[in-house]
Formats: sequence, structure tokens, C-alpha cells
Amino acid sequence: MPGNIWVVAEHWQGSPTDAAFEALALGRELADGLGVALEAVVLGSDTGGLAAALGAADRIVAVDHPALSDPIGDVAARTIAALAAERRPEVVLVPITNLGWDLIGLLPARIGCPMVNFVQDASVVDGRIEAASLVYGGKMSTRVAVPAGPAVLAVLPGTRPAEAGRITGPPPVDRVAMDVDPGLIEFCGYREPEAGDVDITRQDVLVAIGRGIGGQGNVELAEELAELLGGAVCGSRPVIDQGWLPMSRQVGKSGHQVKPKLYLALGVSGAPEHVEGMRDAELIIAVNSDPDAPIFRVAHYGVGADLLDVVPELIDRLEAAGKR
Ligand SMILES: Cc1cc2nc3c(=O)[nH]c(=O)nc-3n(C[C@H](O)[C@H](O)[C@H](O)COP(=O)(O)OP(=O)(O)OC[C@H]3O[C@@H](n4cnc5c(N)ncnc54)[C@H](O)[C@@H]3O)c2cc1C
Repeated sequence: MPGNIWVVAEHWQGSPTDAAFEALALGRELADGLGVALEAVVLGSDTGGLAAALGAADRIVAVDHPALSDPIGDVAARTIAALAAERRPEVVLVPITNLGWDLIGLLPARIGCPMVNFVQDASVVDGRIEAASLVYGGKMSTRVAVPAGPAVLAVLPGTRPAEAGRITGPPPVDRVAMDVDPGLIEFCGYREPEAGDVDITRQDVLVAIGRGIGGQGNVELAEELAELLGGAVCGSRPVIDQGWLPMSRQVGKSGHQVKPKLYLALGVSGAPEHVEGMRDAELIIAVNSDPDAPIFRVAHYGVGADLLDVVPELIDRLEAAGKR
């Protein structure tokens, strides 16, 4: 008989996150497919108010302890591993989020079990869990037969709609009294995103830059173009990772979903994780020197050229048309 399905129901500032509801929706399907219970694992120092939102689960396994008041991956991993050693879940679903990252790295090692990372989907096939996961930075997708439990599945955002897991409860709560060692890591605080930066989800015109922009020195060119078009600059993940634009400007799976009237993609390859965040734009124009770049599959208009030729020309023409 397989063990139960666990979802680490992450919460932030008093409420479960969307990612927790998405994972609960997936967990519900797996639990029903295996004929076992879905349990939401809730860690914190005062989790009493969370149960009512977690009705997708059959039961809540809650640990309240002062050492769990801040989201420290190491403490959470040790706590969940101690619970798992006793209760032997089939799989532990952990949402891939800023909060979840540390836990994902540590939990399989603490439990001593396998992990499937970047899970896009999972289902029960012939009584076993199979997971579809992204590998090679998202360039390939694989199917993994998850070995008999326990195993950790790190679940990508958007695997299921949050609404599907947002069911009011409350399910019965199993409060576990545990001695939790606070460990050596201290949570120093949370910093809100810089105030005053542009909200790219509200822009009608976005000039998106990808790695093809070539370097920070060329970002100014895109900014000039965006200003002439009355919009803002956003970017793909490599652009953000290299610090050419702030995090608040990232479009895609792990960034923002945008829906502007015009999305001008400059030197963006069109990887699925990027396209997921911009495919609903009303008009997509792509400039890419590779005529086979995947971005041209979603673009309404495409320019197969060097952006460093096209953008100055566009700026000149907009200026000549009196746009400045
Ligand atoms: C779990 C996960 C989440 C992710 N989340 C995101 C996300 O939220 N957002 C995101 O963007 N990515 C995300 N990624 C990364 C994604 O898979 C791609 O690696 C990334 O989108 C590629 O960015 P890019 O198009 O800027 O760079 P590249 O793939 O390197 O493409 C650069 C493009 O520029 C073109 N180019 C080069 N020079 C020029 C020039 N002079 N003129 C014109 N064209 C030129 C090239 O032909 C190429 O097509 C994620 C990946 C994973 C695994």
C-alpha cells in the first residue's frame, strides 16, 4: 500500500501562497489516483488560522514551534524529514518558489530519498506516479517513473491553476509536538521590491530584451526606444540574472505574466519559459538574427536581422516622425 501524498503548504504573511494551492490541486489528483489521503504539511509558529483555507487536503499535519516562525529551509527540511521517517509519505510535493528553493535542495538529503526537480506534471500510471520534468535548463522534457516512496517532487509554478486547490475546509488537523532545533541559520528579514519601479504588467508597450542585446551597455538603446514608444523595458531571465535589469522586469514562468498591446522582443530566443509570460500580448514583433529562432513561432511580425542595426534605425525614424 503506498503512503499518503504530502504537500508542503507554504504560507506567507498569514496566508497559503498560490503555489501551495497549485501543488494541492496536483496532490489531490495523485492521492485520488492512488487511493490514499492528501495531507498538507504546515510549519510555523502560529498556523491555527491556515487550516480553513486548506480544504483540498484530507488532513493537515501541523508543527508549531518558535524555531519555525521564519521560512528557513534547513529547519523546515529537518522537521519534515523527522515527520517523514515516522509516517512514510509516498511523495512530498514542494512548490518551486523563492521560499521553497532552500527546502528543495535539503529535503531529499535529509530524508535520504530521490527527488524529481522541475516537475511540470505528474499522474498515476498503473498504480505508480510518473512525473514530467524539465531538464537541461528547460530545453528538454523527460518522463520519470517515481520510485516507491518516499520521494520529493519539486513542482514548477503553474502546474495546476491555483483555483483548483483553493477549497475551503477545514480538514482535521493533526498537531505534532516536536522539539525543533533552530540550527545556525538566522532569517535577517524580508526586503520589499524597490518602490517606484515600473509595473510591467500594466504597460501597453513593452520592449523586451534578451541575451542577444549583448551587454549592459546596449540596454540604454532599448530604453531609448521604449521611451519613444511610450512604454517600458523588460527582459528574459538571463538579462535579469546578469543584473542588466532589476528582477521586477523579468517576463516568464519565474517572472511576470504580461499582456501589453505591443511586445517588441529584441534578441529573445523564445524559450517556452519566456513565451509562457508573454504569449497573450496583442501584437508581438520579434527581432532576431537567427531566422529559425523559436520566438518567430509566436510573433505576428518578425525581423531576421541584427538588433543593433534595427533599433538605431527605428529610433531615428521615430525621432524623424516627431515622437520625441
Ligand atoms: C524553471 C525555469 C524557469 C525559467 N523561467 C524563465 C523566465 O521566467 N523567463 C525567461 O525569460 N526565461 C526563463 N527560463 C530560462 C529559459 O529557459 C531560457 O534560457 C531563457 O528564456 C533564454 O533567454 P534569452 O532568449 O534571452 O537568451 P538565449 O536563449 O541565449 O537567446 C538569445 C537570442 O538572441 C539572438 N541574438 C543574439 N545576438 C543578436 C543580435 N545582435 N540581434 C538579434 N538577435 C540576436 C540569438 O539568435 C538568440 O535567439 C527558465 C528556465 C527554467 C529551467
